[in-house]
Amino acid sequence: MKIKDLIKEFNNFAPLYLQEDFDNSGLNVGNPDEEIKGVLLTVDITPEVVEEAIENNCNFIVSHHPLIFGKLKKITGSDYVEKSIILAIKNDISIYCGHTNFDQVFYGVSSKICDKLGLINRNILAPKPGILKKIAVFVPVDYAETVRNAMFNSGAGHVGNYDCCSYNTEGKGSFCGNDSTNPFVGKKGEVHFENEVKIEMIYPEYLERQILDSMINVHPYEEVAYDLIKLENANNYVGLGMVGHLENEKNEKQLLDEIKKQFGLTTLRHSQFLNNPVKKIAVCGGSGAFLINAAKNSGADVFVSADIKYHDYFLAENKILLVDIGHYESEQFTKEIFYDIIMKKNINFAVRFSKINTNPIKNY
Ligand SMILES: [Zn+2]
Repeated sequence: MKIKDLIKEFNNFAPLYLQEDFDNSGLNVGNPDEEIKGVLLTVDITPEVVEEAIENNCNFIVSHHPLIFGKLKKITGSDYVEKSIILAIKNDISIYCGHTNFDQVFYGVSSKICDKLGLINRNILAPKPGILKKIAVFVPVDYAETVRNAMFNSGAGHVGNYDCCSYNTEGKGSFCGNDSTNPFVGKKGEVHFENEVKIEMIYPEYLERQILDSMINVHPYEEVAYDLIKLENANNYVGLGMVGHLENEKNEKQLLDEIKKQFGLTTLRHSQFLNNPVKKIAVCGGSGAFLINAAKNSGADVFVSADIKYHDYFLAENKILLVDIGHYESEQFTKEIFYDIIMKKNINFAVRFSKINTNPIKNY
């Protein structure tokens, strides 16, 4: 398997289109045409992680946090980023980073935290608006099924847990081709009326090119008529953070003990106890303080995240228990998402979890 083949699997799971503007997910270093000899999974890239990859004959490192964030003006080895790049290139190691694109998908970073806490009935905490579109295409009746199926197969027509969603209305289309046309039905220079089906489907914007290509490919008309419409609907299956329920309610201290156990913590920070039973929990892997109000509005009893600052804790306002478990700690299981994607394929190389704890923050 080549590096680009695995990257395709990652992108199918968490399209790069979904990453935030500040982010740099994707292939950071290396050659996508190389055969994979071994994969090393990590949260961060440091020179020590690249050394670990070399020692274990892994020529592909898959990291949650990007190695390269800002613009690089030189690569002289003056800091850990430049050192890692030099070491990787010298040893033919490629580096892929799956960061905020993996935060945005339903089974991504926050979902992993829900798994560890045993949360059920989950929803995205802050669904992402502005990524849904609708296509309406006009097809002669006999070709409607073929065109519809091509669009379904390329990713259109998914609504929640439902596939193959479309709306179909029959009507009459008219057209008149000029001298340079070769119409599929009717004659050039004459107005023709044809029984057509208007097929409407919803789709995420990032699939637009492939949906249009496959639709046009099977459509019989020389000039295919279609409308593309931007929707205001939020996509409830894409967005940041997640909220779910405990199967059996706990008190706050029981929950914090469970979190410590599941995430291997010796300590954590939290806001004032409310002394309420805990049933509904919101989570966000990494720096999630910007979702405190969304967590409160969701009716969650607790919000588990990281990088919560002093002033952020005041936002709890005796309405929610804020819990900061640490940035690295909250994202440590993201490696398992990469692992599961790889293991679904037929592979002939080893996949290892890095043994290096790259967390730069230590507790004493
Ligand atoms: Zn992070």
